[in-house]
Amino acid sequence: MSAFRCGTVAIVGRPNVGKSTLLNKLVGQKLSITSRKPQTTRYRLNGILTKLDTQYIFVDTPGFQMRHKSALNRAMNRTVTDSLRDMDVALLVLEAGQLEKEDRDALAIISAETPLVIAINKIDKLAGNGPLLDFLKMVAALCPRAELVPVSARLGKNLPELLKTIRTHLPEQSAIYAADDLTDRNERFLAAELLREKLFRLTGDELPYGSSVTIEKFEEEGQMRRIHAAIIVDKDSHKAMVIGQKGLKLKEIATAARIDMEKLFGGKVFLQVWVKVKSGWTDDERSLRTLGFGDL
Ligand code: GDP
Ligand code: MG
Repeated sequence: MSAFRCGTVAIVGRPNVGKSTLLNKLVGQKLSITSRKPQTTRYRLNGILTKLDTQYIFVDTPGFQMRHKSALNRAMNRTVTDSLRDMDVALLVLEAGQLEKEDRDALAIISAETPLVIAINKIDKLAGNGPLLDFLKMVAALCPRAELVPVSARLGKNLPELLKTIRTHLPEQSAIYAADDLTDRNERFLAAELLREKLFRLTGDELPYGSSVTIEKFEEEGQMRRIHAAIIVDKDSHKAMVIGQKGLKLKEIATAARIDMEKLFGGKVFLQVWVKVKSGWTDDERSLRTLGFGDL
């Protein structure tokens, strides 16, 4: 058998190309949040996949935020750059048939020394092989040093090929994490991610990006978890929207989040959620830190 390999893989790409979906499919667990709404991944999140001869440590980077220039977006872009430093492989995700300026921007921040694999995702959306071949040729011309692997994250198509390609760039060394570790993020963090995902999904397009979730209390009693969370919004009108008629929207959000938490943690969860208003926080670096963005 070949020597064990272990290393870090930065997943990079503009919003909505399917980075979170791909990570979830690869590590086989719902850890990174996904959404139809771009830019819902605000933190870096490691997913770990351990095979017989390889350990892949994935870092899901937030989407690029070229259009807005608030402190929050600057912090997110810093996360992208930071997560690329010291990575063994950069995995750029593109959407098949769609090459946009933001994709080129994503490509531009990857240093020429970092081995580059490009996953051409959502091939299930293209009709026939012709358009895919044309797209592959275009990307190969744009970036000759990259290895291209067409995949469908949603259908799980060609993912073994993608892993094989990534593996060739990982250093020979023993595993860093235990074989059954899925992520190095703790449950408190995952609870916030799951609640945030439901918030974005269930409030539709009205809720602006300037809202966040913070976990105020996380207690374990045996197999049971008691979690107090706050949804923090910009304005009173957003608060009313999240709470909904007779509190029904908030109840829907909290229930969906609790069900996912119970699945992930493997035990009962008592979840209480409050909605709080905090004006202008996206433009205030200090409030970012208070809210737990200090490590960005
Ligand atoms: P991210 O912003 O790059 O993390 O993208 P997400 O993983 O949140 O995915 C954005 C949207 O693309 C979601 O609606 C996914 O279901 C969808 N998506 C992801 N992968 C595929 C794929 O292989 N095929 C299709 N048709 N849709 C996909
Ligand atoms: Mg994402």
